[in-house]
Amino acid sequence: MTEASCIFCKIVSGDIAADIIAESPNTLAFRDIAPLSKVHLLVIPKKHYQNVVELQESSPAVLGELMSQATELAGQHTNGSFKLQFNTGTEAGQTIFHAHAHVLSDNSKDGS
Ligand code: AMP
Ligand code: ZN
Repeated sequence: MTEASCIFCKIVSGDIAADIIAESPNTLAFRDIAPLSKVHLLVIPKKHYQNVVELQESSPAVLGELMSQATELAGQHTNGSFKLQFNTGTEAGQTIFHAHAHVLSDNSKDGS
């Protein structure tokens, strides 16, 4: 997937709508369109990197910012029990080749 055809780049640019819940200078967080659990958020760098390894190698500070955003949102949206997941590579289930963290939990903050 090239940057030009990348769905997550289009969400960052506003060309595709998303349920955006938070933003930091270099990251964006929105709800997954096909949630696998009660809470299913995605946190992405605004800039395009293929996966978390490329992000770590190119911009470790942005990866740190992304981790802060993800854990902060997990604190806001869950009771403290959650999974933080980076699918990396096709065989690991990565389908969108723009680095992203999944925040997954069936323990929503309000219990709903
Ligand atoms: P992965 O399989 O790790 O590459 O995860 C990609 C995730 O992006 C999947 O959980 C999809 O449901 C989600 N997704 C795909 N398109 C959109 C979209 N337009 N808005 C929000 N989430 C999306
Ligand atoms: Zn992208």
